[in-house]
Amino acid sequence: MIVVMQGSATTGNIQAVIEQMVELGFDVHRTSGEGQMILAGVGSPGAFDVASFQVLPGVQTAYRISSPYKLAGRGFRPEGTVVTFPNGVKVGGEQITIMAGPCSVESREQILLSAQQVKAAGAQFLRGGAYKPRSSPYSFQGMGVEGLKLLREVGDQTGLLVITEVMEISQIEPMLPYIDCFQVGARNMQNFNLLRELGHVRKPVLMKRGISATIEEVLLSAEYILSGGNYDLMLCERGIRTYETATRNTMDISAIPVLKKLTHLPVFGDPSHGVGIREFVPALALASVAAGADGLLMEMHPNPDKAMSDGAQSLFPEQLQKLIAQLRQLAPVVGRTVA
Ligand code: PEP
Ligand code: MN
Repeated sequence: MIVVMQGSATTGNIQAVIEQMVELGFDVHRTSGEGQMILAGVGSPGAFDVASFQVLPGVQTAYRISSPYKLAGRGFRPEGTVVTFPNGVKVGGEQITIMAGPCSVESREQILLSAQQVKAAGAQFLRGGAYKPRSSPYSFQGMGVEGLKLLREVGDQTGLLVITEVMEISQIEPMLPYIDCFQVGARNMQNFNLLRELGHVRKPVLMKRGISATIEEVLLSAEYILSGGNYDLMLCERGIRTYETATRNTMDISAIPVLKKLTHLPVFGDPSHGVGIREFVPALALASVAAGADGLLMEMHPNPDKAMSDGAQSLFPEQLQKLIAQLRQLAPVVGRTVA
């Protein structure tokens, strides 16, 4: 159930509504947007009459949520979520956020050069995996904690925020001092225990769509994180598995406007994993922004032919530079800007 309070509602009015919701067995999450408090009741209460809430003092409207995701739905924050990072970068506002960097952190030289190139191109975030979910156990598995330290070091040196993938619960604590944003990979979108734990941290999370996840499943996974109280969540379309073999995955551009309608959470496009072939990445990056994406997550490597993972889909630094210049021209057409 969602209860929208009037702008003039008193603290006492709000408290009285919360108490009634709790009495019914709801867990109450609150958010304030555009001067109004919105209360979302989640859980499985017994029978109740929503009309009894509509008449309480200070209530503007109250309604049942028919979708299975309650906190991820637009109704919880109709104006959209903006995630603010410690350096003031805002994700989900007018500005498109660019996250770029190599698939994996490979060495100090490689990640420092990447950070410099990503910064020069105009991105706000450096990406790079320290823990890598590889399809083969014999492939490079990442540098682990050493990789995290390098990310922090070069992020601070260049003034970039850093995002990197968390694969299991035991990695959360050790990652906290080094990173600005957790990335949940496609393979872990339904690792519900991991999602629950990420609901309890107070650090933003970008969660990718699973390889064969429906949009409803994406939103239910988001619900696991939100229901723990971590509302600083972003979603990311990264291509799904279809019958097509000409590309690595099929970038589901339609998921972007659909998600934007269904949820208040910022939505990213990852055209690198989405298509898997360098030459097509710029087209899909532009398409993602045209479709309403709030940001892009892209792979770029100083020397893609020597990359230890995902070289074939990694942009050359000059390509990233050129693409961001194109995005600057495109963004105003859809009412956005690129820094
Ligand atoms: C990655 O970002 O390098 C990655 C492993 O992505 P995904 O989880 O989308 O496969
Ligand atoms: Mn990758």
